[in-house]
Amino acid sequence: MEAYCVKCKSKREMKDAREVTMKNGKKARTGACQVCGTKMFKIGG
Ligand SMILES: [Zn+2]
Repeated sequence: MEAYCVKCKSKREMKDAREVTMKNGKKARTGACQVCGTKMFKIGG
């Protein structure tokens, strides 16, 4: 899945994406940028 990478300043494919639940109960995905390895975060399942 794609997410915005703040380091690359563009959308990148997310590596090792996994689902997490935020404090407000909403689902989000976290992973790492495929290109630079920066941690990525995307709201929504
Ligand atoms: Zn990146």
